[in-house]
Amino acid sequence: MNHPLPLREQMKALEHLQEVDFKIDHLIKRKTSLPDSVRLLNESFQKMQLTTDTKKNAFTEVEKLIRQTEAAIELNNDRLTRAHTKLETVHNSQEFQAANKEIDQLKKLNTTLDEQLKKNKQDLELLNQEINQIDTDFLKLKTDRETQMTVVSSESAQLDAEIATLTQEREKFLPSIEVRISRQYDRVRGARGGMGCVHAVGGRCSGCNMMLPPQLFNEVYRANDLQQCPSCHRILLIPSVSGEASSQAEAKTGT
Ligand SMILES: [Zn+2]
Repeated sequence: MNHPLPLREQMKALEHLQEVDFKIDHLIKRKTSLPDSVRLLNESFQKMQLTTDTKKNAFTEVEKLIRQTEAAIELNNDRLTRAHTKLETVHNSQEFQAANKEIDQLKKLNTTLDEQLKKNKQDLELLNQEINQIDTDFLKLKTDRETQMTVVSSESAQLDAEIATLTQEREKFLPSIEVRISRQYDRVRGARGGMGCVHAVGGRCSGCNMMLPPQLFNEVYRANDLQQCPSCHRILLIPSVSGEASSQAEAKTGT
């Protein structure tokens, strides 16, 4: 613009700009929090993956144990066969007793090994059931996650569209505001939680609630120059709503 608009009008545009920016900030915040639901599902997913891996490793270990026990039983049976053969060829009672003792020991060992094999097979069956259950849960979680990701991406697109509309609206107000003022507004907004300008109401800054020096408060209503709160540095505006504040503004305009 060649000639800046009267400050009072610029402040009105700034007020609208702040409203739009506030909405944009809110939408951006919503967009940022969207992936949380997916993140939570991802965490469950990873936890479940870890449990599955642990169970599958345990399954492999038990399978190995079973093979070892079966091999031990086979070996023991061979020894037993040999012990029986020995028993048929003994020459005296001492050898007979020794062979019988060996057979007894081998039989005892076989019983132990059989019990171990039985237990291993039970463990394997249990692990198999657990793994099947986890696989079912896993599949469900996978589906949930995909659904959630679709929801998030469509919500995200919706928010993007709303943000784009508001950004266009923002552009409508910008040309009415001098660059030095919009820069100041952006600076304060960045430092003060998204609020770059606030109303001066009842002698106070409505941003930080500090009591303003009466002279400054009057200057705001004179609107000859940009005024900022000495405490929070936000640009001070005259409220555009009707009521005590604006009638006070009317009164000040005449001075
Ligand atoms: Zn303030």
